[in-house]
Amino acid sequence: MSDVKNLSVVDSNRHKHKPLDNETAAVEKPSKEEAESAVRTLIAWAGDDPSREGLLETPDRVARAYGEFFKGYELDPSDYLAKTFEETYGYDEIVLLKDIRFESHCEHHMVPFIGKAHVAYLPNRRVVGISKLARVVDAFSKRLQIQEKMTAQIANTIDEVLEPRGVAVVVEAAHQCMTMRGVHKPGVSLVTSRLLGAFRDDPSTRREFLSMVDHSGGSYS
Ligand SMILES: [Zn+2]
Repeated sequence: MSDVKNLSVVDSNRHKHKPLDNETAAVEKPSKEEAESAVRTLIAWAGDDPSREGLLETPDRVARAYGEFFKGYELDPSDYLAKTFEETYGYDEIVLLKDIRFESHCEHHMVPFIGKAHVAYLPNRRVVGISKLARVVDAFSKRLQIQEKMTAQIANTIDEVLEPRGVAVVVEAAHQCMTMRGVHKPGVSLVTSRLLGAFRDDPSTRREFLSMVDHSGGSYS
């Protein structure tokens, strides 16, 4: 019964699925049954028996988990920045939201990279609700990503939609594709940044931002 219910939910999403930009465009979303079949194939590829009792419901769980891991494809990050507030009493200093935790998946190995984003902008007469900055991070992180691209997408979207005097984004994350496989180097984090406008052109603004972010490091799991 619950399978039938889940299938109908997936079908309705299927028609809502809209291409957001050229990288997410025009791929026909498979049915949930097709996704579950692919999971059974991967279980067998790993060397286990997808028909044993403990794994029977796994394909259904994995397909639903993918709905959460990759819900960013259903979100348009610029929507979050559409509503702005102009009563700022002349506030024109840095607005910084620090330590935005995110969970993403590397597009090369489809394993998680988990970390924090710091997002700042210099208002140009208008500001957004601060939670919206976190939602922009979510919308881009819940996709198959590389950290460098995600950092640029967050900064560029805020720059294009909000048109502030500057945008600065720093992302720090630990990549499980480096800890669980390959070079097996736990405890390393990748730091990426994108600075636009005054954060790029004005050294004192950049210094102020970097001191506010204050790289304290830490664990991301
Ligand atoms: Zn990877």
